[in-house]
Amino acid sequence: MTRFDPLQPHGATTRRIPIGPIASWRRGTLALALSFGMANAQQTVPEASAWSKTSTTSDVVAFMAELSKVHPKLVPYAPPGAPLRTESGKPLQAWRLPATKPGALRVYLNGNIHAGEVEGKEAILLLLREVLQGQHSELRERIEFVLMPCYNAEGTDALDPAHRRYQPNPASGVGRRETDRGLDLNRDAMKAEAANTRWLLAMLRDFDPHAVFDLHTTNGSTHGFHLTWAPALTLGGDPALLAFNRRLLVEVRDQLKAQGLPTWDYGNFEPDPRSGNPIERWESYDPLPRYLVNYAGLQGRLGILSEAYVYRTFEQRVRETRAFVLQCLAWMASHPRDVEQATAARLQPLRSGDTLPLAARLVETEKAPFEVVELERTAEGQPLAEKGRHTLTLPSLTTFQDLPEGAVQVPAGFLVDGTWAERIRPLLEAHGVRALPGTARPTLPPAFFAESGRKVGSRAFQGVFELDLQGRWTPDAPKGHSPWTAADLDRALWIPLDQPRGRVAFYLLDPRSPDSLVHWGLFHSVLLRGGWGEATRFPIVAVGLPPEARVASTGTPAARKPE
Ligand SMILES: [Zn+2]
Repeated sequence: MTRFDPLQPHGATTRRIPIGPIASWRRGTLALALSFGMANAQQTVPEASAWSKTSTTSDVVAFMAELSKVHPKLVPYAPPGAPLRTESGKPLQAWRLPATKPGALRVYLNGNIHAGEVEGKEAILLLLREVLQGQHSELRERIEFVLMPCYNAEGTDALDPAHRRYQPNPASGVGRRETDRGLDLNRDAMKAEAANTRWLLAMLRDFDPHAVFDLHTTNGSTHGFHLTWAPALTLGGDPALLAFNRRLLVEVRDQLKAQGLPTWDYGNFEPDPRSGNPIERWESYDPLPRYLVNYAGLQGRLGILSEAYVYRTFEQRVRETRAFVLQCLAWMASHPRDVEQATAARLQPLRSGDTLPLAARLVETEKAPFEVVELERTAEGQPLAEKGRHTLTLPSLTTFQDLPEGAVQVPAGFLVDGTWAERIRPLLEAHGVRALPGTARPTLPPAFFAESGRKVGSRAFQGVFELDLQGRWTPDAPKGHSPWTAADLDRALWIPLDQPRGRVAFYLLDPRSPDSLVHWGLFHSVLLRGGWGEATRFPIVAVGLPPEARVASTGTPAARKPE
């Protein structure tokens, strides 16, 4: 048994982490020499504190201000129409760095969405400084950046040594996962309840990135990888885009492996090793667009989830996150036309009769060797010692296959009851979805939702009792609902699906979609009624469904939560 020392690498797979090609290193050294005198001001908080502290929002603002003094092209960025502060008044502060050559790719880097997982926040600062100081010249030339190191700004400043006690932490402690209102921002992409999410949606509309990175740290899986990652795994995403997204990451995985940094698809052993049952497989999480990288995929962008390994030291986690992001960016910079081509579909409208899935299942993607790490823990769950590790060859289930029985043909569009317009219209527009008056609808037959089953969450999640509806569209309003009159149809919001964000609109509005506005309780007062129960209108109508459209019941996909 070896003692677990958080300051030392552990295990057979631990190797030195490279810091980049020698040519880049030389350029960086020259730039460092030129900016001599700024070195201290350009140190991050962890570097200046011997890795005993992590940055607050004001530390990050001060660091960026110092970089901007020397590199004035780095400027604060605020997307038009976006909230500039959180509900508690913390700054939603991002920066933009244009590329030096025309025709650059656009990349958004998101840190601290879970503000206890501080590694991405710090890695973004290290990487940006290197790029500005002349390292990685291909990135400076070919990639335009928007960077948001402290996305969950409220959680960022709630530093507390009591948070995430199970991991080796800086003495300052780390931030808090959720916002002051208790929202997990990595479940908020569709309902966009938080100001942070509405900022993000405004950034997507304005900056229109080809790729969205979201940087995390795992919560306790005991595997032998120094980092795990996931592409967009989006239910209903463009299949060619999703395949390209995964190809990028598999090639990066192989490049990093050659450099001594073991990575794999984000996932967990199943069954959980702590159950004492034999491990049978490695499984990814789920394809719902509530997660930021899956949402990016729904908009036709590349999504990249990074999960540093929780039991590495703080410094190792930051440096390995940096190494992973750098390798992904270098891959993109060397395949710019491929990236553009793969993401061109982000502006492609849906057409009536196109088919989209309402459910998917995890499938075996490959077989591979996995190291299972055994830890001795304190009563608090902190790792005390590594007792050993062993290797198992397991099926790796990290991609999804649409369930054919869950595929449906899409209508020309949806009508949303005008009663809800004030609430729903701004939300649709935040997603970049155009909503028109009901009178603008085409002269196609409406179809009404006939519910055949429902499941209401037994516990609240994000303040909502989630609602999953099953059913199909029928020519007549079913029993139990009052009919829509011609005036009701005219007063409704008309949301055509033949628009660039048609996929987003479909998954927001089809009542069977597992991440729809129905699911997230936006219509609960009419759909979860007690008391009198006299008939009301179902709030959404489909228009222009192909006559042969027949609908299967929704199935909610595997529901593992990423960390
Ligand atoms: Zn996380």
